[in-house]
Amino acid sequence: MDIELAEQLIDSLRVGLILLDHEGRIKSWNGWMQHHSGLTLADVRGQRLDTCFPDISGSRLEASITDTLRFKLSAMLAPSLNPNLLPLYHRPADRQHDQRMQQLIYITPLRHPRCACLIQIHDMTAALRRERRLRAQSTQLIETSYQDALTGVGNRRRFDQDLAQRFRQAQDKQRPIAMLMIDVDNFKAYNDHFGHQGGDACLIQVARTLREGLRRDGDRVSRYGGEEFALLLSETDREAACAVAERLRMAVEQLNLPHPLASGIGHVSVSIGVAAMIPTREQLCYILVAQADLALYSAKDAGRNCCMWYDAASGSASPLPASLIADLAVD
Ligand code: GH3
Ligand code: MG
Ligand code: MG
Repeated sequence: MDIELAEQLIDSLRVGLILLDHEGRIKSWNGWMQHHSGLTLADVRGQRLDTCFPDISGSRLEASITDTLRFKLSAMLAPSLNPNLLPLYHRPADRQHDQRMQQLIYITPLRHPRCACLIQIHDMTAALRRERRLRAQSTQLIETSYQDALTGVGNRRRFDQDLAQRFRQAQDKQRPIAMLMIDVDNFKAYNDHFGHQGGDACLIQVARTLREGLRRDGDRVSRYGGEEFALLLSETDREAACAVAERLRMAVEQLNLPHPLASGIGHVSVSIGVAAMIPTREQLCYILVAQADLALYSAKDAGRNCCMWYDAASGSASPLPASLIADLAVD
């Protein structure tokens, strides 16, 4: 291949090439380097790299070049570990904001009388930007896959995962865990009266009220299904769980959403079943759901718009103590 063609090819490469001599002085660099550094070969020939680019002094790049010149070692510097290596710019406008190109750099020893080291620089800016965007999209997708589309609270998948995880933690630490199963009362009649869109709007408001009624970081409401919501409370005993349940029941009541077909109060209400336990190592997490469910059905039987807790001693559900309800009512 003739020299002229070789030079043209090297200048056309979309990779930066720098040749250093045995003293680390620049012998040559290609058109890509000129374009992205703003310095011509005439500007830099015979100079050391750290004279042209003073901020590489003391950097890993400088150390790697020294190793290549001294010990004939190859090196690769990835942009994730070595951001902003050389003051090279993807676009001329980036220079004003010192928005440097993300670079992947290979340093290779050469066995030649006049050249000792070849540095290749790849522009990774677009690839890394794409990767960041994909990672953000993937995080967003994962988040969405755990969210109930209608109400925005956690969905059933989120609840199942939380339940397994928190129940295991409670077993390991032998600490209490509680669950609230919350069901909108007479919701079929609400739909019949206001239509399904009206029903949807009601579910959105109830879900928001439940979510906003939580006071502790990490507590999360999930939609268990239909018009049922579930709440897991780690490190929470029965008494504390009953207090949360009663507070949430009152919050929904205070929304004052009219429900002409609701027996009794005339507005939307919820019934809540509460279960709490320090689980033994043998127990399965579903027992907590079964207990909260049983308590919920007792609350329905007791006339709705109330909370009941599961009593393991009797295997049945009981109303909350009147003193607790009275205390919360004056809060
Ligand atoms: P109870 O007080 O005993 O809970 O009676 P209920 O009418 O609330 O219970 P039931 O199980 O008979 O009816 C639940 C209704 O919830 C029926 C169903 O159409 C409605 N539903 C479930 N999911 C949705 C939803 O996403 N949107 C709307 N609008 N309605 C829903
Ligand atoms: Mg239901
Ligand atoms: Mg219901």
